[in-house]
Amino acid sequence: MAPLTELVLASHNPGKLREIADLLAPFGTTVTPAGALGLPEPEETGLTFVENALIKAHASAQGSGQPALADDSGLCVTALGGEPGIRSARWAGPQKDFAVAMRKVEAALGAAEDRSAYFVCALALAWPDGYSEVYEGRIDGVLVFPPRGSRGFGYDPIFLPERQSLTFGEMDPAAKHALSHRARAFAKLAAARFTQA
Ligand code: IMP
Repeated sequence: MAPLTELVLASHNPGKLREIADLLAPFGTTVTPAGALGLPEPEETGLTFVENALIKAHASAQGSGQPALADDSGLCVTALGGEPGIRSARWAGPQKDFAVAMRKVEAALGAAEDRSAYFVCALALAWPDGYSEVYEGRIDGVLVFPPRGSRGFGYDPIFLPERQSLTFGEMDPAAKHALSHRARAFAKLAAARFTQA
């Protein structure tokens, strides 16, 4: 299969676009966000992270005629039976306000003693001919309130990864990339598909 010198990033989320561009930087791959090509965001009708990642990757590969990479990810809270999970973006409402989403998580947890949670990331690569591959990563941790730090995006300020003293919201981006769910999924993708430039 031809090397991946050009990829469409099937995401409209600026935080994810920034992190995926950082992760791809060592591989000399040119990346174009789907939004820059005028590609619409497909409806995420899947029931799993993998299904939604595939929906987005296939839509961008078909729409652009180029290989496309999509990320579907979210925060799964044990005491909430895995919610917000695939609905992580929707918990932030139409304004995509994650201060609201983090307050909702805190309210839903109430006095629950179990504060464990994990982030999941499914990365789907799809080609215009309909072929696709999926890679998954996960990081476990606990939730902390009030939120800490203003780096990262989404739920980062309430997520304290296991064996760390800083939340994802407080960490340097390079430190997050060393252990995040996205970086773990990306390491599998890179091992299968990329050689360092
Ligand atoms: P979707 O994959 O576009 O449906 O949205 C996933 C949502 O999960 C994002 O909007 C974030 O709220 C959340 N999320 C996914 N990955 C991360 C992360 O690395 N940090 C914080 N929040 C994340």
